[in-house]
Amino acid sequence: MNVLVLNCGSATVKFQIIATDLERIAGDTDVRLARGVVERVGGEAIITFEAEGRDPRRTTAPVRDTRSAVETVIRWATSESSGIESVKAVADIHAVGHRVVHGGERFTHSVLITDEVLRGIEDCIDLAPLHNPANVRGIQAAREVFGAGLPQVAVFDTAFHQTLPPHAYLYALPYQWYRRHRIRRYGFHGTSHRYVAYRYRKLLGIERAATKVITLHLGNGCSAAAISAGDSVDTSMGLTPLEGLVMGTRSGDVDPAIFDYIGAKEGLTPQEVDSVLNKQSGLLGISGLTNDMRELLDEARESDDRRARLAVEIFCYRVRKYVGAYMAALGGADALVFTGGIGENSPEIRARVCEGQGWMGLELDPARNEAHTDRREGLISADGSRLAVYVIPTDEELLIARDTVRSVHGVPQRF
Ligand code: ADP
Repeated sequence: MNVLVLNCGSATVKFQIIATDLERIAGDTDVRLARGVVERVGGEAIITFEAEGRDPRRTTAPVRDTRSAVETVIRWATSESSGIESVKAVADIHAVGHRVVHGGERFTHSVLITDEVLRGIEDCIDLAPLHNPANVRGIQAAREVFGAGLPQVAVFDTAFHQTLPPHAYLYALPYQWYRRHRIRRYGFHGTSHRYVAYRYRKLLGIERAATKVITLHLGNGCSAAAISAGDSVDTSMGLTPLEGLVMGTRSGDVDPAIFDYIGAKEGLTPQEVDSVLNKQSGLLGISGLTNDMRELLDEARESDDRRARLAVEIFCYRVRKYVGAYMAALGGADALVFTGGIGENSPEIRARVCEGQGWMGLELDPARNEAHTDRREGLISADGSRLAVYVIPTDEELLIARDTVRSVHGVPQRF
């Protein structure tokens, strides 16, 4: 089955085409055929296409909306020049898997999209006003391009965290707020945490029920998850992706009283404060330079910039605090797993997060840590370390493609 995986944002459509089926899932032999991105949808778009094993191709063209972005992708994929052997016509795409940001409490796993499911995703727009509308547009665009008969599946960022117990997902706020408005912790990056927990047990050859790990997704957005018996039992993001760790431009945890205080001091509306906390805080806010960790590390090294150093220090300190908290929540874990652009590529950040944690039996192997860059998977802790540490590159698109196959065949997704 050739699955088109779509991740539709407000002005960006990312895609992959993955050949997979139940047999390939069992044998771990799925094949990525192509990937790419259409950026600046709504104007003169920048389009990058890359068939597996070929050089990327970059072009620009006017792309009006999400539908025309999906059409552009399909026109390229089915063209002779794309070089994708098994995709020659629209009919060679057999299903579409969508990344959907918010599934609320309703969606606890991936589902085949029906009119009712689409209405359910629309009902979650309140909870994710920036993301879910773009996801809905992506689903509608794919229906228009491929016809209503082609199976489409929604894979939710929140679904994996629906196993959180009430003491982890409820805030200590008036209970009616939860009852009336569903104010609670939902958590995000669920597909990534679930994927790396799955890879971890594949690497070790252990059962789902024996998976007791802390997963750290450190990218532009950052989140931690505590995983017990394969299920997420706590996570750092909340009602929205703002809570928890320090991120590229998001503050993570802050005292909510700051909202009112700074609003009055600087004459900002609640929406403006919200925007600063989401878009101008985190690494960018502290350093005043950039939200990009690699640039910050270069800056701290080359020009010894004080605020760049401070931003990195605060980032690592917050991660360390969450690791400690989740060790307590789990009553001890077997491993720590790093993923995401920073977690997969930066030995320096990993070393600083793990620094001084011998008390919990954590000892990194410096040479192994240094050797794991460029998405290399493997163990980076020392042989005697009681808490193992792994780098496991995430692959949300693969999990979306696999869930799409499983949903089409009606087989369970717990694995
Ligand atoms: P997204 O969350 O948007 O998918 P990524 O997971 O790709 O983003 O992570 C992007 C972050 O990873 C950026 O802050 C980038 O600087 C950082 N990063 C990528 N490579 C390195 C590296 N070698 N060292 C440090 N940080 C890196």
